[in-house]
Amino acid sequence: MSGGGRNNNQQSICIGCGLCCDGTVVTHLAVRDESDLGAPLRGLGVEIIAAAEPPVFELPCPAVCDGVCTIHDLHRPSACSQFECKLSQAVLDGVMTSEEARSVISATLRARDAVRAGSLSAESFQELVTANFRVEE
Ligand code: SF4
Ligand code: SF4
Repeated sequence: MSGGGRNNNQQSICIGCGLCCDGTVVTHLAVRDESDLGAPLRGLGVEIIAAAEPPVFELPCPAVCDGVCTIHDLHRPSACSQFECKLSQAVLDGVMTSEEARSVISATLRARDAVRAGSLSAESFQELVTANFRVEE
């Protein structure tokens, strides 16, 4: 995420994506503490779920707008710059071109809109997201 996605090295594909900020790929991000969460997100009303181990904050993040992180040049949690989805890893590993990745992102954003419009099932969308973005643990 930068102007868009999380990873500074992947700005070219992350800008305008933001699927890891809006709750599509993951539902929570881990933070060390309040200072890691940072003043910009606190100012937007984000709170740490301290009972979780490690502590987390919930997505969608209020700082993402049209796939762009609006606080990228301010303080972001460290997890934001460290996060790599399967797609960004594939580009970093050289097994997918940035153009191919952008095409997958565009198709996924269209599918997300189709779910919202009721023309695609949530189950089909989740399968698409898992196949292209979620890293097996
Ligand atoms: S989901 Fe992947 S490609 Fe999209 S912004 Fe996040 S890291 Fe970048
Ligand atoms: S602060 Fe929010 S919008 Fe910005 S990179 Fe992190 S999760 Fe995404």
